[in-house]
Amino acid sequence: MISKGDRRGIGMTSARTRERLVARLRAAGIRDEAVLDLIREVPRHLFVDEALSSRAYEDTALPIGHGQTISQPYVVARMTEALTDGRRLQRVLEVGTGCGYQTAVLASLADEVFTIERVEPLGRRARQRLKELGVYNVRFRIGDGWEGWPANAPYDGIIVTAAPPEVPEALLSQLGEGGRLVIPVGPRGRQELTCIERRGGRLEESSLGLVSFVPLVHGRQQ
Ligand code: SAH
Repeated sequence: MISKGDRRGIGMTSARTRERLVARLRAAGIRDEAVLDLIREVPRHLFVDEALSSRAYEDTALPIGHGQTISQPYVVARMTEALTDGRRLQRVLEVGTGCGYQTAVLASLADEVFTIERVEPLGRRARQRLKELGVYNVRFRIGDGWEGWPANAPYDGIIVTAAPPEVPEALLSQLGEGGRLVIPVGPRGRQELTCIERRGGRLEESSLGLVSFVPLVHGRQQ
């Protein structure tokens, strides 16, 4: 959990900018107050390079190195809202740790978060950051998220923050009863944000609209 006291040099301007971001997401249709609270509280500026920190509360994706990006706050909120559906989750799998921002949001809404990143320096830095923020219910792995993390399955939530051309079978098989998988699917620049729920042996699929993510790449980066 990130303590509310941990503001690290954040002045009034920042508080205002954060409030503006929350208002914007609300206007864009985000309804889950727990999610909006986290957008307000999680210090996104600590997840990007210092040179970009003044833009951290804009509703935009930003570069985090290694050709990757921190997701746009609206997309983080939308995916999180779809994943939890207002419930507290027990076990969540995240594929694509990146800078760890989405991970930090999830850590407040689930008992345990398991997160996989294929680019080692990103995964390491995310781990360090979350430790500094006092987030302890996350387990990190450097590896290929295409295969999921079977040892901790089943999950009641799986979130993928990079886009494969099709939903990986392994992820579906690790989704527990009543669980939801939220994943962008499709070719670069035109992916459908998809929510799949396992219900009594059936998989119910719904679309949450078009998004643009970096591709889910096979294999761990060497
Ligand atoms: N949620 C992250 C998004 C980072 S972008 C954030 O807000 O920072 C997507 C991430 O997925 C990148 O860091 C990329 O390296 C990672 N990724 C791509 N393919 C992967 C795979 N097969 N397994 C694990 N991570 C992968």
